[in-house]
Amino acid sequence: MDYQKVKGTHDFIGEDAEYLSYIRETFFKVTSLFNYKEHVIPTLEYSEVFSRGVGQGSDIVRKEMYSFLDKSYRSLTLRPEFTAGIVRSVVENKLYATEVLPIKSSYLGQSFRYERPQAGRYREFYQGGVECIGVSGIDYDVEVIQLCLELLKRFHLDDKVALSINYLGGIDTRERYTASLTQYFKGHIEEMCDDCKERIEVNPLRILDCKEERDQKVASNAPEITSFLSEKEKADYEAIKERLTLLNIEFHEDTHLVRGLDYYSGLVFEFNVPLEDNALCGGGHYDNLVSELGGPELEGVGFSFGIERLIQFMKDNGIKPESKKSKSFYIMPLDKEVSNYALRIARLLRENDYRAEIDYDGGKIASMFKRAERLNLDYGIIIGLDEANAKTVQLKDLKTQEQISVSYDKLLEEISK
Ligand code: AMP
Repeated sequence: MDYQKVKGTHDFIGEDAEYLSYIRETFFKVTSLFNYKEHVIPTLEYSEVFSRGVGQGSDIVRKEMYSFLDKSYRSLTLRPEFTAGIVRSVVENKLYATEVLPIKSSYLGQSFRYERPQAGRYREFYQGGVECIGVSGIDYDVEVIQLCLELLKRFHLDDKVALSINYLGGIDTRERYTASLTQYFKGHIEEMCDDCKERIEVNPLRILDCKEERDQKVASNAPEITSFLSEKEKADYEAIKERLTLLNIEFHEDTHLVRGLDYYSGLVFEFNVPLEDNALCGGGHYDNLVSELGGPELEGVGFSFGIERLIQFMKDNGIKPESKKSKSFYIMPLDKEVSNYALRIARLLRENDYRAEIDYDGGKIASMFKRAERLNLDYGIIIGLDEANAKTVQLKDLKTQEQISVSYDKLLEEISK
């Protein structure tokens, strides 16, 4: 039988794995500059964490969760996103009582959604993001946008994305807005796709960002949330826009931006790649998620990047992972008699943080050089009987082909030059 990967999953091999580790390293470096700490949560949660957290009306909970009963008939779910899990962890560990507020958590790992696989859309994918919990006002809303931009800057992509923002109100605003939307869409039900017909009752907001042309046409005349916001919400939204302008951050207001997750109740934002349907990064402010999951009334704000989409975007723009790898060596023992000496040299190099690979295969020196070339290593260390007896090596720069004899004692000094 030929085994294949599960549909919608993928392997990170070679350069892709390098992208992933470069992004991971850069991500945690930049988030720590904003004083976020890595927060590692389980992949599995009780299903209610997401059905309550992300919301029964969301597409994720209705159609996309990998949920199953374990052997004790408990319903478990592979996380479809991180926010609800991080909040569950903050509440369960009562971090709000022991930590300085806001709690700043960063994360990077896999999420799982049963979506139709296509370019930039997988069933198992990586997300990197932050949650800032215990905030009030708009300061951290703007700070997380700055953090996203700083990250994009590190990848030389900050001037290649477009920031869209919108403001969804709290429960009261949402209720009034949803009622008005439902009424409007009911009047146009015949013009809408089957999915959106169903959404009218369960989540009419989601119709606003349906990608189907006919639904977009109907949505273009739908009532807009901005006219339903309370005075306080309007003032907050204005303050966010003012602050962004002050910081010279360009943005575009999109009254149809609702994001797919029910918990957002203030600012929502997305960074998009022009002409791409899928968002590169999305986030927003939530007022009630912490209390929904059993905690105190604390507000939060966060965002999440899709790592596969980021990798693709970097590739499209010719941006390579910046490798911080140390110099590398291929040790070539020309005789069985010198193998102990070769092992000693490999140990010396590795103990001093150099990458070293030994050619255990032996054979002709020409085939050893071929292997070194295919492994893309920097230097060859050639050891014959003469070298072993004299406690020296032949050090060959595999790029310039320059070769010198170096004593064992001087090897580290020579290669650190
Ligand atoms: P969300 O959790 O829906 O706010 O998504 C946050 C980010 O995760 C998006 O902007 C995407 O970049 C990424 N993402 C969401 N769903 C997928 C998917 N099925 N495949 C790959 N990336 C995804």
